[in-house]
Amino acid sequence: MDVPLICYACGNTTTLSAGTRCDCGEPYWVATEPTGFAWPESGERSLWRYRDLLPDVVPTGLAAGAGGTPLVRAPRLDDGIGARVHVKYEGSNPTGTFKDRGSSVGVAAAVDAGYETVGTVSHGNMARSMAAHAASAGLDCLVLVPADVPAERLALIARYDPTILRVEGDYGRLYDESLHIGREQRVAFVNSDTPLRVAGQKTTALEIAEAFAPQLPDAIVLPVSSGGHGSAVWKAFRELRDAGLVTEIPHLYFVQTAACAPIAEAWERDDRTVTPVDGGETVAYSIANADPPSGDRVLAAARATGGGVLAVDDDAILDARQALSAEAGLFVESASATALAGARRLAENGAFEGFEDVVLITTGTGFTERDVDAPIVDATRVGLGALDDAITERMG
Ligand SMILES: *Cc1c(COP(=O)(O)O)cnc(C)c1O
Ligand SMILES: [Zn+2]
Repeated sequence: MDVPLICYACGNTTTLSAGTRCDCGEPYWVATEPTGFAWPESGERSLWRYRDLLPDVVPTGLAAGAGGTPLVRAPRLDDGIGARVHVKYEGSNPTGTFKDRGSSVGVAAAVDAGYETVGTVSHGNMARSMAAHAASAGLDCLVLVPADVPAERLALIARYDPTILRVEGDYGRLYDESLHIGREQRVAFVNSDTPLRVAGQKTTALEIAEAFAPQLPDAIVLPVSSGGHGSAVWKAFRELRDAGLVTEIPHLYFVQTAACAPIAEAWERDDRTVTPVDGGETVAYSIANADPPSGDRVLAAARATGGGVLAVDDDAILDARQALSAEAGLFVESASATALAGARRLAENGAFEGFEDVVLITTGTGFTERDVDAPIVDATRVGLGALDDAITERMG
């Protein structure tokens, strides 16, 4: 099956076999026909619940296990936000991030199209996710990482036994080059913002919308790097509007790490296109894309929904990460904590004035994050005989 594509910017149409980027320079997304779509009656919990809005392929193995993540209330965070806070916890996907949604669709489509090898350009979550889904489907997986990736992160990817190449050179060029080589060598590359990945990632927003139906949250706040996920969330609500299930789209806010914030900087300048930056070190390394392929599409989404793009620094990210654990019970990756850090800043600036419900998408689990910082733990040592007194003293 060849997949129909459409350009959000100029309306051009094509099919996947002809390439993933339009002549106008913008990425394509999968063309869908949402008219007549209704919330499903089925008890299906995975993202394939929304198969009517997905490419017509059959998921097996791990592909059938992505999505269906919890949306939890975090009442102790309400005060800092000035609205009811809901957290979409993507850490409960099979490999711990929302990346599984895109891999699920991308790998199922590759199987359907007769590919024997899939590939991705990633140094972390996307690589783990693609390697896992390929392993489950019995496909070979080629992972292209930057040459200087920390050994701990490579070890997590290697567990799923893909072929890993450490590539020297510009990461942005590697992204485009891989798609080109993939077409020539029949490797189905599923990269950060390729159409099938974005198609799968739409389902984060479909799940949020269905949970609130027939109401809507006022705002959705999520971390952004390549812009693939952000553009997918926008697309999901456009489809629901076309289907007549919503009349409005929540304000979409996209958060970057200050150390590498090309989209937020373009937003500040009121530009329509993103200029690449020289990114620096940050605890939120998973969202440090200096040359985001869907940056322009995210700017368009923020503008169209009355939202915005902003950047937060590492101190604010670590504070938010701590609050998500200690006040909401959620153990998230530093990159994901930018959602709360960004929402706090927006609330301070009055952006949420009059809002009732704000959804934070925490994109990944913190349990994979072994290389960030050594915690200082306050735990008194006490002899068994003194335990009674110690508890009285500590707990009051
Ligand atoms: C990939 C990733 C993001 C950013 O998603 P994009 O689609 O690249 O914008 C955010 N958080 C985590 C944990 C990620 O792995
Ligand atoms: Zn175009």
